[in-house]
Amino acid sequence: MAEFFDSKIEFLKGVGPKKALLFQSELGIYTFGDLLFYFPFRYEDRSKIQKTKDLTGFEDSIQLIGEFGELIPAGYGRKKRLESEFFDESGSIKVNWFSGVNWIEKSVKPGTKYLLYGKPALFKGSISISHPELEKYDAFTFQEKKFVPVYSSTEKLKRSYLDGKSIGNLVQRMLEKLPSTISDPIPQDIKESLRLITKRDAIRQIHFPNSLEEARQARRRLKFEELFLLQLKLIRSKQLNKKNTPGKVFSKTNTLAEFYKSHLPFTLTDAQKHVMREIFSDLKSGFQMNRLLQGDVGSGKTIIAFLTALLAKDQNTQTCLMAPTEILANQHFQKLQEFGGKIGLRVAKLTGSTSGKDRKSILEDLKEGQIDLLIGTHALIEDRVRFKELSLCIIDEQHRFGVAQRARLWNKNENIYPHILVMTATPIPRTLALTFYGDLDLSIIDELPEGRKPIITKHATDRDRIKIFSFIKKQIENGGQAYVVYPLIEESKKLDLKDLMDGFESISRAFPGVPLSILHGQMKSDAKEYEMARFVKGETKIMVSTTVIEVGVDVPNASTMIIENAEKFGLAQLHQLRGRVGRGSEQSYCLLVSKEKLTREAQTRIKTMVDTNDGFKIAEVDLKLRGPGDLAGTQQSGELVLKIANLATDGAILIEAKKWSEKILAEDPELSSEQNASLKRMLLIHKGTDFNWRMVG
Ligand code: ADP
Ligand code: MG
Repeated sequence: MAEFFDSKIEFLKGVGPKKALLFQSELGIYTFGDLLFYFPFRYEDRSKIQKTKDLTGFEDSIQLIGEFGELIPAGYGRKKRLESEFFDESGSIKVNWFSGVNWIEKSVKPGTKYLLYGKPALFKGSISISHPELEKYDAFTFQEKKFVPVYSSTEKLKRSYLDGKSIGNLVQRMLEKLPSTISDPIPQDIKESLRLITKRDAIRQIHFPNSLEEARQARRRLKFEELFLLQLKLIRSKQLNKKNTPGKVFSKTNTLAEFYKSHLPFTLTDAQKHVMREIFSDLKSGFQMNRLLQGDVGSGKTIIAFLTALLAKDQNTQTCLMAPTEILANQHFQKLQEFGGKIGLRVAKLTGSTSGKDRKSILEDLKEGQIDLLIGTHALIEDRVRFKELSLCIIDEQHRFGVAQRARLWNKNENIYPHILVMTATPIPRTLALTFYGDLDLSIIDELPEGRKPIITKHATDRDRIKIFSFIKKQIENGGQAYVVYPLIEESKKLDLKDLMDGFESISRAFPGVPLSILHGQMKSDAKEYEMARFVKGETKIMVSTTVIEVGVDVPNASTMIIENAEKFGLAQLHQLRGRVGRGSEQSYCLLVSKEKLTREAQTRIKTMVDTNDGFKIAEVDLKLRGPGDLAGTQQSGELVLKIANLATDGAILIEAKKWSEKILAEDPELSSEQNASLKRMLLIHKGTDFNWRMVG
């Protein structure tokens, strides 16, 4: 059986070495198995043969048996076309050809019976069809077709006669040779309980279903299998990690307790307290913590990071906190240094713009254990950054960091891996979190600190400019501050900068005497820091910037956010940006300014923002609009390539898959029982599996 699936595609009749190379380079298909798992994206319904008299012209496709009348040329030269009429017993429809006319004239024979297929159109009340597919019809040899699969193809493949349908002929040929039994990794009791069809039936039916329901069942079964195997791997490797990766035991809590008692600037929300308990229980366990802390913008993740760093200090060990931008690293530094000062936590900052002299002394202090918490950007990953004893790595706004970077932080401690706490404000829909972060434990802060008023969001267009300005004016008169943000699109940095500068100028003119800040990616980092600091202190009233302010910046007094060219932003980014306001007790506002004419998708994005402040709801919409590929930086990391399941729409199947994986691994962790045998075999040969069952036991 394995031989069948592993046979090289070139040995399939009708392929040969030349097409085999194309299959490889264009579609990544090397073997019979690869082609069998190349699924059609739609089916042509050839299950019925219609009668011309019943047609409405609105059908997606029609299939008729009949014959042509005379082929009548019309037009001249390159505009030459052919017209004819196609008759069955019940009547006729018009047929047109606009290209390949000479060939049609020669090959299509009036008076011969054809099977005709195509999409009808309605023109001035009569039904016609252009360029139908034709096949000679012979009542004796005719085999009724059902649903004909259509595969996506490429220009190159099409030039070699491998179009979306001819791939189907190859698949059909292969299916004729499919072994009569093929091993099925899904245990019998799951199949029964979920009424899943066998793998063999699924493979056959997904390509050539007898009905659309059969195709649906085949898809459901194959999606389940894909997600089920994935979940088994994730859950299993999480179990192995837990068992195999020791972690520093955190047992003392003196400083933490003191800070809690005397210096905590506010009462923690219940959600924050809950998360602290989850973290502490990991840190005591003796195994390495790998935890993802998810909390909407403004939910208060920073204090969690700080309290956890205090715990590390209590064990006489060090913490590093890595932020994605310099601005954010600065802000964390300022805030945590202030907190730290109250309790004797020594905080330092290391970024790309730290001077050579400062860097040298920081690195020395770090090695000697004179620094408890080091805050920085990517610069922290560099090899020369060595700690005395690093026991905790905190990564803020995780979506900007790749998995590989995370792993490099792990190696910063000689003997034992540091605990890892990843914090993200990108609310990840549950289905995605279950899948992408199966290897991390999940903590969620699902409430905002008390007294926050939901941000009021409105949509405006360029025509509302005067109103927008007078609104900002009022906010400033009431003592508030405002952001005006312009999109930054990598490819057209210059253009965006121009938008930003034009905007800055018109704001300067509209607000004479009001101190302004400006911030963009091409400024030197000390200039950025200076502008940011002025705004934080309230010396400037309006911050005109690109999206560099997006991540994490916290200025509670800023209660107005104007997003220019809002249609150019993705949902996740809009939500992040809006999260910069609504941090104090004042009512906050977000104005999304766009041009008048919007694509439907842009409309959906803006409407979603206007309708809700709930990051999880927004993430769900985002997932539906964009698909899971782009979210959470997963695309670059290539962690997950799904063939058939779609995380945006197959959440229910995923949850079943997770439930069953957990059940099976709980009952039979080694998968050594008879009924799990083919499942285990499948996991061992599964491509790209880095999953080593032999490590166990
Ligand atoms: P984020 O989760 O987006 O990183 P921050 O940690 O920056 O949020 O917190 C947002 C703001 O809320 C900060 O000004 C912070 O001091 C404040 N904050 C955090 N937790 C609480 C709380 N429990 N009660 C009141 N304010 C809080
Ligand atoms: Mg933050």
